[in-house]
Amino acid sequence: MKEISAGGVVYCKKDNQLLIQMIQDRYGKMTLAKGKMEPGETIEQTALREVWEETGITGTIKEPIEIIKYQYSKLNSGVIDKEVHYYLIEAASGELQAQIEEIRGVEWLNPIDAWKQQKLGGYHNNHSVLLKALDKLGIKVE
Ligand code: ATP
Repeated sequence: MKEISAGGVVYCKKDNQLLIQMIQDRYGKMTLAKGKMEPGETIEQTALREVWEETGITGTIKEPIEIIKYQYSKLNSGVIDKEVHYYLIEAASGELQAQIEEIRGVEWLNPIDAWKQQKLGGYHNNHSVLLKALDKLGIKVE
């Protein structure tokens, strides 16, 4: 079975400082907002809807970052081939609020801390997603 999700590296500018949104997912890992595509949606619409639903933030898409692929096993469905389309998304408005049915938490971190959290508790295939996003934003963390 195939599953397609979309989401993004969401950033905001506050007091001249750039902040990056990091999620703690329901499995306890640090990750990026994302969720499954629904019928009738474009993949960009999915990314923006999921960011809004999971974190309370509305945003605008700046550019695509990367499509990552992985597999996991689901009870009664077997192996799932998953594809996640990530975009660079600038936060436009909204109050940060985790939708607790879907994720454990969400926060704004400075880029150095976001990268630290990614390295410490993130999925390996999200490393390049975050690094590419930071690079597009003109930020070097290593
Ligand atoms: P969605 O947010 O797309 O609706 P979901 O919560 O239904 O997703 P996933 O986030 O893909 O599903 O999680 C399903 C399984 O895959 C979990 O075991 C999770 O830890 C694992 N997983 C999540 N993200 C990744 C990733 N980037 N790389 C590898 N495994 C991942």
